[in-house]
Amino acid sequence: MQVSYIDFHTHSRQNGDDVLEVVSLHGAQDKDVKYYTIGYHPWWTLKLLSEDELALMSDKYRDDACCLGMGELGLDNLKGADIELQEKIFIQQIQIANQSKSPIVIHCVRAFDRMLRLRKRYGETPWVVHGFVRNKTLAGQVLDSGMYISVAPHEKLSISFKDTLQYLPLDKIFLETDSDFTMDIKERYRIFADLRGIDIQVLKDQIYQNFITFYTGKWKHHIG
Ligand SMILES: [Zn+2]
Repeated sequence: MQVSYIDFHTHSRQNGDDVLEVVSLHGAQDKDVKYYTIGYHPWWTLKLLSEDELALMSDKYRDDACCLGMGELGLDNLKGADIELQEKIFIQQIQIANQSKSPIVIHCVRAFDRMLRLRKRYGETPWVVHGFVRNKTLAGQVLDSGMYISVAPHEKLSISFKDTLQYLPLDKIFLETDSDFTMDIKERYRIFADLRGIDIQVLKDQIYQNFITFYTGKWKHHIG
């Protein structure tokens, strides 16, 4: 089988047909998607979620083979509701994911201690922190908690982020654009592969394996 590039986290379909992309939908947002995750983003969720809003997540995950997981959701100390309220909304969604046995795609800005505490207390399914740009020490803590990390390598890497990219275990990573198409996903694979001194095909194969492992509950429907 020809393994495609994977854009692990984006907000719209902008890649070509040779890229498997997962679009993140905010609640009932209606977009042209193939594979997607569904959740309530901390920037746009300013009060506790209703029963209906939560049911939408579990219904989609149960009924639609193309809904691979839940997210993005999480915590942002720079934007959105008060962080205590964000935590309550985060826990509401973790509980829905646990009931549904769904993996979660996490948005986390300046709230890693809180997020890791919640992971320890409530986390029962695979979690990934997307858009990770922090240092290797923090990456180590995230990995130690059993989570995956998704990154968007680019040309002007800071020294500490470059260090992180050199350190990340290949079986725990994903690459993404997060809809920043100033650089496409193939270019990001190339930068990462060069940095690690590995062949692009090896990287593609490994990330595809990670994808199957992370989204195992749903992806088996698509590969038979
Ligand atoms: Zn995003």
